Amino acid sequence: MASIELRFLGTGTSQGVPVVACTCSVCRSSDPRDARLRSSALLSVDGATVLIDAGPDLRQQLLRAGTDSIDAVVLTHEHMDHVSGIDDLRALNFHLQRHMDIFGNAATISSVRRMYHYAFAEQRYPGVPDLRLHEIVGDRVNAGGIDLEVITVLHGEMPVLGFRHGAVAYITDAKYITASELDRLRGLDVLVVNALRIKEHPTHFNLSEALAVIAEVAPRKAYLTHISHLMGTTADAAQLLPANVELAYDGQVIRVES
Ligand SMILES: [Zn+2]
Ligand SMILES: [Zn+2]
Repeated sequence: MASIELRFLGTGTSQGVPVVACTCSVCRSSDPRDARLRSSALLSVDGATVLIDAGPDLRQQLLRAGTDSIDAVVLTHEHMDHVSGIDDLRALNFHLQRHMDIFGNAATISSVRRMYHYAFAEQRYPGVPDLRLHEIVGDRVNAGGIDLEVITVLHGEMPVLGFRHGAVAYITDAKYITASELDRLRGLDVLVVNALRIKEHPTHFNLSEALAVIAEVAPRKAYLTHISHLMGTTADAAQLLPANVELAYDGQVIRVES
């Protein structure tokens, strides 16, 4: 029996909510659940913790969660809202006095190496992040001591990685999931899946597409993430959801024995 904890550090789409300069009712909402930093989560299993994605709000997210240790980082894909906070991992390098292992598919690893070229230079400037990049090959990986099943979904044309441990799975930035990968999402207690907004979108599930995936794989409970202000307020969107589905919110913690 493993004790699994998933903590949502951010549940917003690439622009976050509120959106800069927007005055819509969601962006002006006083409900704290409607303030969404860029999507990221901490997955802890029996005391080991991996960070799923390291977007532009990472520093603020780690401060807010009181995080002082991470065993590894797993990246879903190379888009900026998922990788542009990697430099802030150096705070944990200094605190933990060790390098940080970062896992992703080949495209993500090569783009991280390009973006953060100074961290991989022969002569490194003092104080740059100390990162070890690991390419995920195949459909399993051990990251930071946690065994993960790796599920590949499609974000438009781009393959994006989802991660499952036991009865908990986290999927973001999906627009399409093949039948064989859907089969690997059955038997879950908790499925996290992205739902951008009510209307369709070319590269992300909208609400009805996310609900169709949830109905298909039938987790005990599902949480929606990577949410845009166009979803409406958390309170209004709740009216549209089946009983076992809710909009995740920043800071939410889910615990499962699996
Ligand atoms: Zn994204
Ligand atoms: Zn993306």
